[in-house]
Amino acid sequence: MNFRKKIWPKTAGDGASMVFVLIIVPVIYWFELWVVLPQLFSPGSSIYLFHFTLGTFILINIVGNFTYTVLCDTSTRSVILPVSKAKVKEGWRFCLSCESLAPPRSWHCQTCGICILKRDHHCVFTGCCVGHFNHRYFLMFVLYLFIATVYSFYYNNYFIWGRIKFDFPMSIVKMVFPLAFFVFGFDYSMDQFYLTLYIISIVGMAFTGALSVYHFHLVFTGGVAHERAKRNSRYNLGWRQNLKDVFGERWYLTWILPYFESRLLGDGINWKTAASWREKTR
Ligand SMILES: [Zn+2]
Ligand SMILES: [Zn+2]
Repeated sequence: MNFRKKIWPKTAGDGASMVFVLIIVPVIYWFELWVVLPQLFSPGSSIYLFHFTLGTFILINIVGNFTYTVLCDTSTRSVILPVSKAKVKEGWRFCLSCESLAPPRSWHCQTCGICILKRDHHCVFTGCCVGHFNHRYFLMFVLYLFIATVYSFYYNNYFIWGRIKFDFPMSIVKMVFPLAFFVFGFDYSMDQFYLTLYIISIVGMAFTGALSVYHFHLVFTGGVAHERAKRNSRYNLGWRQNLKDVFGERWYLTWILPYFESRLLGDGINWKTAASWREKTR
């Protein structure tokens, strides 16, 4: 993997979103395993240890995949590009901002200031672009966030509704504006803080659920966000091959941990099209 040299967020929006992720992930982890879990299962019991281990495993995947997404250089800087137009084939273009030739499926990011190989989108939560080389890590980051929030939601309901008395209409207001109640001092109790975390994780579940469906659908159909917008299915090689293109040779191991290596089949520069692939597999 080629590492990015400057991982500092480039805009205030990127910075704020990254700080939010870097704070909320450990806080929710603490809340689930140190506050909720001991209330539901007796510490030291086998079911307690099971949930503790599973929760920690999910956290390692979230943090690991986040880190790899941020660190991985998936720009045209990380590969050697031809300098003359004579050597390039169809689909190449000249990027005026980079002042160089750029391969098919690459796309210039104004925020990153460079062309990104098989660019999917610029992610504000990681402060970088998602493209050919970090696509796998980004997808697993989102998927594990979704798994974590669904898992939390199930047990948080037992915890929250076991300690908060519902009184209409104040409880509704507190649920709709949980953070405002806590920050502005209307209710400084720990229960209000827990309610805030409960609501944040529900919003996170809806958001990461929608993102997971959207991005995995793109992976299975062999596209990236802007190709979908243009209804371009030129690179759809069938779901199995599409999956391998993103997750690499050892795709079946990539969900376990980000540290398992899985060499990518493509170089991010030369792309097989659906037509040439059908020709080859016929
Ligand atoms: Zn460019
Ligand atoms: Zn970018």
